[in-house]
Amino acid sequence: MIKTKRVLPGEEVAVEEEYLASEGTYNEDGIIYASQVGDLELNLEEMTATVRSSNPPNVLRNGDVVFAVIADTRSTMATVDVAAKDGSERGVGGETYGTIHVSKISPGYTEDVTKELRKGDIIRARVTQVKPSLQLTTKEDHLGVVLARCSKCRGEMVRSGKLLYCEECDRKVTRKIADDYGQVVF
Ligand SMILES: [Zn+2]
Repeated sequence: MIKTKRVLPGEEVAVEEEYLASEGTYNEDGIIYASQVGDLELNLEEMTATVRSSNPPNVLRNGDVVFAVIADTRSTMATVDVAAKDGSERGVGGETYGTIHVSKISPGYTEDVTKELRKGDIIRARVTQVKPSLQLTTKEDHLGVVLARCSKCRGEMVRSGKLLYCEECDRKVTRKIADDYGQVVF
């Protein structure tokens, strides 16, 4: 016999004297909690507490447009952590750590990735490969940095032509900017 009901993450669903934590649940100090939104299944034969997600996380596919944070940059590539798919409020599942090669930054020639993307920038990018490694591109007008902070004062930089400008420090920096820089609401 299986009992089901809908639960939220962090909701107490069972105790370890009666059930084993399984998919979608975790055991903390003898109490079993849901780790995701879904349908709780208390399996009385197997003595397992499971929460099956009715809303599975987005799995990235080729061509998807995503928002990502720049984790690090070198002259030849940037590493990014994908946070969300554009147009979706659900989180991203599977591999979220990807790279953008110097040849995939902008339509023109890019000499040095660190002049176009910087650690902490929020970018919009397109997935070009999922396996064996996640690869992305910012080679379109609508792709690139959508929000950047000044590396000196951490203030939000504003667009100034093809550059970004910090009013506080009165300095300009180069970036591969998306056409709607500063207008994306998160
Ligand atoms: Zn500044």
